[in-house]
Amino acid sequence: LPVLAVVGRPNVGKSTLVNRILGRREAVVEDRPGVTRDRVSYEADWNGRRFRVVDTGGWEQDVLGIDASVAQQAEVAIEAADAVLFVVDAVVGATDTDQAVVRLLRKSGKPVVLAANKVDGPSGEADAAALWNLGLGEPYPVSALHGRGSGDLLDAVLSALPEAPQLDFAGAGQGGPRRIALIGRPNVGKSSMLNKLAGETRVVVDSTAGTTRDPVDELIELGGKTWKFVDTAGIRRRVHLTEGADYYASLRTAAALEKAEVAVVLIDVSEPLAEQDTRIVSMAVEAGRAVVLAYNKWDVLDEERRFYLEREIEKDLVQVRWAPRVNVSARTGRHLEKLVPAIETALEGWETRVPTGRLNGFLGELVAAHPHPIRGGKQPRILFGTQASTRPPRFVLFASGFLEAGYRRFVERRLREEFGFAGTPIDISVRVRE
Ligand code: GDP
Repeated sequence: LPVLAVVGRPNVGKSTLVNRILGRREAVVEDRPGVTRDRVSYEADWNGRRFRVVDTGGWEQDVLGIDASVAQQAEVAIEAADAVLFVVDAVVGATDTDQAVVRLLRKSGKPVVLAANKVDGPSGEADAAALWNLGLGEPYPVSALHGRGSGDLLDAVLSALPEAPQLDFAGAGQGGPRRIALIGRPNVGKSSMLNKLAGETRVVVDSTAGTTRDPVDELIELGGKTWKFVDTAGIRRRVHLTEGADYYASLRTAAALEKAEVAVVLIDVSEPLAEQDTRIVSMAVEAGRAVVLAYNKWDVLDEERRFYLEREIEKDLVQVRWAPRVNVSARTGRHLEKLVPAIETALEGWETRVPTGRLNGFLGELVAAHPHPIRGGKQPRILFGTQASTRPPRFVLFASGFLEAGYRRFVERRLREEFGFAGTPIDISVRVRE
């Protein structure tokens, strides 16, 4: 059976959650750190699929101090698992120990489902949402105690688990490092950021054909992984053009986007948002790339500017309100470590596939609860839908009539609420069936 490891700090509610998953009170009697139990593994069943649950809550007996032992247990459990359910106390928020586990998880490359536990009511949703910061994708708000949200969580767990026991495909698939385009208008700090990222880690020049003049792409190691920053020659080559600078920048942006999977769009917070900023953001969206917004020069942001900045973002960057955002300083290095988790979140959304059954269950409920307005005596209905592709996610909806733009936007919004898609544009096309 595929193995699911449940990891997290003591007292976050792992064992209560395991009980929920098992649908019975078997895993634990007392919710107390330090309680040692013999059994750590249970067979579970959800929607007809069976899997094994490893409850690390039984290993909380620590000799090395809580933090070290949590990390150690997690490491062992993660190694053995096909997928990991990482439980965080949403009320407390992510602690340093949680961050240590996140690093292990990232290193492992195993699929992770993030449970934001102790969300006992709607007021806890914001606490859960804050855990997007961990860069592990969508936090599933649950109340292990009351059972709230555990159905959705289990659906996510199932899609993270392989159908059959995982064979060893180490090294196969995934064609090399992920490709990042660092884009933004001149002087936002692209070159500074590249230098900062490269300077503090190992830089490998990608010496493939056609790179006799300058390196075109650079391999940079960040967060334990190697990333390919594409078209960096265009960043490093300082061009001082008085005329045509915008054109040059657009060209470079387009070229970089062509080769990249994810765009990190830099925006200079020391200046008002410019039209060119929004144009570059649009280019990334239209190219269908995953998008991360990096607000640079945070070290020179003052309070007044900050106020206006947030309003500008609300107003002028609504088209990418789904994009993960990091507030950084390429000069001081502030929060640059948050870039990789944001990129990973965006790539994950970009590659998400919604099973047709789930999609249609969702669409059915949506249409029933929020029918399209009646037009000319007729009421167009979404009949069914399918996700045609990923990278980015594209959906085809079959409808009994023309769907208004407002309704399409509503459907997109609800799709995002339901399935995540942080950091990715999604494309919805509608086919009318007479
Ligand atoms: P590029 O044209 O996008 O590559 O921008 P550069 O990296 O050349 O940076 C333009 C200017 O902004 C330079 O004077 C940098 O020193 C400055 N700069 C870049 N990043 C930061 C930052 O985080 N904070 C501050 N205060 N200045 C920065």
